[in-house]
Amino acid sequence: MPLCNMTDLMRAAEERSKAVGAFSVSSLEMIRGTVRAAEEMNTPVILQVAQVRLPHAPLYLLGSAMLTAARHARVPVAVHLDHGVALPCIREALEMGFTSVMFDGSSLPLEENMQTTRRVIAMARPYGASVEAEIGVIGKTEGGQERAAVCASVEDSLRFLKETGVDALAVAIGNAHGVYTGAPKLHFDILAAIRRQDRTPLVLHGGTGISDEDFRRCIENGVRKINIATAAYGAVYEAARNASDYFHMSDRMEEAACQVAKRHIGVFGAFSLS
Ligand SMILES: [Zn+2]
Repeated sequence: MPLCNMTDLMRAAEERSKAVGAFSVSSLEMIRGTVRAAEEMNTPVILQVAQVRLPHAPLYLLGSAMLTAARHARVPVAVHLDHGVALPCIREALEMGFTSVMFDGSSLPLEENMQTTRRVIAMARPYGASVEAEIGVIGKTEGGQERAAVCASVEDSLRFLKETGVDALAVAIGNAHGVYTGAPKLHFDILAAIRRQDRTPLVLHGGTGISDEDFRRCIENGVRKINIATAAYGAVYEAARNASDYFHMSDRMEEAACQVAKRHIGVFGAFSLS
């Protein structure tokens, strides 16, 4: 099964009222474990890495491995750059063959966020790649810096979708990156109100710590891509700590990434494209 376009996967998920799991990867073990999970569950998957994680695994190396793994997978795999903030980094991912990129302009004023999102869309189109953007403020940054969550307004979100034509939109609904300090309180009404007027796929960030029930409510309200990073990094780290030697560590890391992906795919809904 070839490397897949992310919009195609989200469209297929929409038809089936499911969501595609998007798992962060930073090593061969995480890539292999995640792809194996998708293969064993016979479902598409999104491999992604956030720009902030690239100092640990540079794009030219990690991205090549992600793309090669996707091309060799037995299930459809999209390869996505998460939280791209620098346009040269987004360009590099597109040049390499990533089938999707995110421009994160959530720290910018709305007009500027929309303007740069439009630039990124113009950049991505010749490559046939999808573009995800973000509106509102998702608690904590992807890199773990503190910041207060601010829910996106429905009006701004609808305007954003209409004026940019972005392929997927991450809407802040009280969700946060990293580990939640209390039980997250998600505002599903925001998703529902957007969806009543616009069917663009929505994206949920900060998936770690959200209950299965809340995942399902997000999916009912139009979320088609769910990001999991902290749960995967945490499980892989724990697995590595308890290993007896390097190769045992490598096996355990892959298995941990596989289990995290499987557990989440089980909630998001496995499906076959054919
Ligand atoms: Zn995120």
